[in-house]
Amino acid sequence: MNNNTVPKDIKVVGLTGGIGSGKTTVAKYLAELGVPVYMADEESKNLLNEDPALKEQIIEAFGSEAYENGQLNRKYLAATVFKDTEQLEKLNAIVHPAVFTHFDLWKNRQKSPWVVKEAAILIESGSYKSCDAIVLVVSNKNTRIQRVITRDQSSAEAVEDRINNQLSDDDKIPYADYVLLNNTTLEHLYEHTYELVKQLNLRFG
Ligand code: ATP
Repeated sequence: MNNNTVPKDIKVVGLTGGIGSGKTTVAKYLAELGVPVYMADEESKNLLNEDPALKEQIIEAFGSEAYENGQLNRKYLAATVFKDTEQLEKLNAIVHPAVFTHFDLWKNRQKSPWVVKEAAILIESGSYKSCDAIVLVVSNKNTRIQRVITRDQSSAEAVEDRINNQLSDDDKIPYADYVLLNNTTLEHLYEHTYELVKQLNLRFG
């Protein structure tokens, strides 16, 4: 085996948190601090629109209506898997392995001893099992609702519905190695993130 094919021992730090908790903001701060960050949800959206093999599998499983002018028909797919666990599992069984492979290729191109993988459903999807450490961002429910209303102009009911569809923070905390509390200012969140990077550098650097 030549050296280029030997997988590097790069540690993976999973970053997650409920809707509006602030995980994307933490991901942004981590990137600013020089940490390679893989945004799994964003990458999966890109792959669904760009990866020919993945597109073919989706069309085979959900029909040609799954794409419109080459772009994923999110409305159609969301309506198909909404409240149909079997269909949702079918979708996940196609998308998750594709994202996993894409992540692995990305990871092996990085120069850092540790990288971050940000995903909203890291724990629910089981992806946490392939991480070396888990960071969970936690905020009060009302604060999260208020932040998402401001960010997306959505209704409190819609946000609450989405919160209730995810595992609660109490259920997620046992999986976490690091919990970042985000109930105050963005400056505090940045400071917490800075401290986290120091700790992770000591552990994996
Ligand atoms: P989602 O799962 O919905 O993508 P998220 O966990 O990624 O949410 P962010 O997008 O990081 O959350 O944060 C939600 C909104 O709240 C953003 O507009 C962000 O700027 C804002 N926000 C996050 N933390 C704070 C804070 N401590 N103070 C003020 N605003 C904040």
